Amino acid sequence: MTQEEIYAEAIGRIRERRRAAERLQETRTDQIRREIPETAELDNQLRSACLSITHVLGKGDNRAKLEEIARHSMEADAMLRKILAAHGYPEDYLDLHYSCTICDDTGFTGGKPCKCLEQEIGRVGAEALNARSQLSLSGFDDFSLSYYADLPTEQYYAMQQNLAVCQEYAADFSPERAGNLYLFGGTGLGKTHLSLAIANEVLKKGYNVIYDSAINLMHILDQEQFRRTRESGDTLPSLLECDLLILDDFGTEFDTAFSRSMLYTIINSRVNAHKPMIVNTNLTHQEVQDRYGDRILSRLQRDGCIWLTVCADVRPVCVMCCTCT
Ligand SMILES: [Zn+2]
Repeated sequence: MTQEEIYAEAIGRIRERRRAAERLQETRTDQIRREIPETAELDNQLRSACLSITHVLGKGDNRAKLEEIARHSMEADAMLRKILAAHGYPEDYLDLHYSCTICDDTGFTGGKPCKCLEQEIGRVGAEALNARSQLSLSGFDDFSLSYYADLPTEQYYAMQQNLAVCQEYAADFSPERAGNLYLFGGTGLGKTHLSLAIANEVLKKGYNVIYDSAINLMHILDQEQFRRTRESGDTLPSLLECDLLILDDFGTEFDTAFSRSMLYTIINSRVNAHKPMIVNTNLTHQEVQDRYGDRILSRLQRDGCIWLTVCADVRPVCVMCCTCT
């Protein structure tokens, strides 16, 4: 998707939220009018007060008239709320309930895009990218520790601990507070499953998450940079801005100057902006250092991060802080 298409889709979704809030209010109004007929007269008074204000505003000295209309409508509103409460409904049952109370689901506040619109743009961009990913979401429920039953006891318990760390990371996730998570270990030991289970939980919280393999993302960025067409998207800003980026199979991408530069840009920018990442790799620390040099490794080690080794053969399974080398 191009940036224009992403923006148009995001605005469309915000407007649909506003329409949905208005439809809900209409439905509730009809329902309450049927159930409690005495509310109909009060509701009519409130509606005609709105019309009267519009009418009076166009005339000369109208302060006294406006005050009178305001007093009447406040009385009618208070009475309506009392009746609703007396019948077991919340007092604000007939109010408009917008998803965003800052912009009332218009997408703009003070002439600028509201935070909700920015979040929706991020979400649409992430969805478009994830649709191209070969990874599919999984859950913690179908992550079975029995798969690790043949490991030495110490390592089995370490896997149990890894699972608990990932569950806790997902449960406590917020883009402002979450640190980075690096999962090292051999193929087929559950790194991708654990990180996609985290993605699943974080998406349920309403945050935007991008999950894809390093090889796929580098291919997309390469296409956008060197083989642009009119349909080409603009993926890099989404990778830098999304609430959580999951970079799977770090180290399997083609090793080119472009991919190194892109990976450094992504990792460095996100670390500087304190934006959380999950990085999975089959490489050992030494191999990361040999392949990417100290620059990337030092960025990966910065800030509050958790390193999990999901591995039976390279080194003992461990859960360590960023001082782990
Ligand atoms: Zn808003």
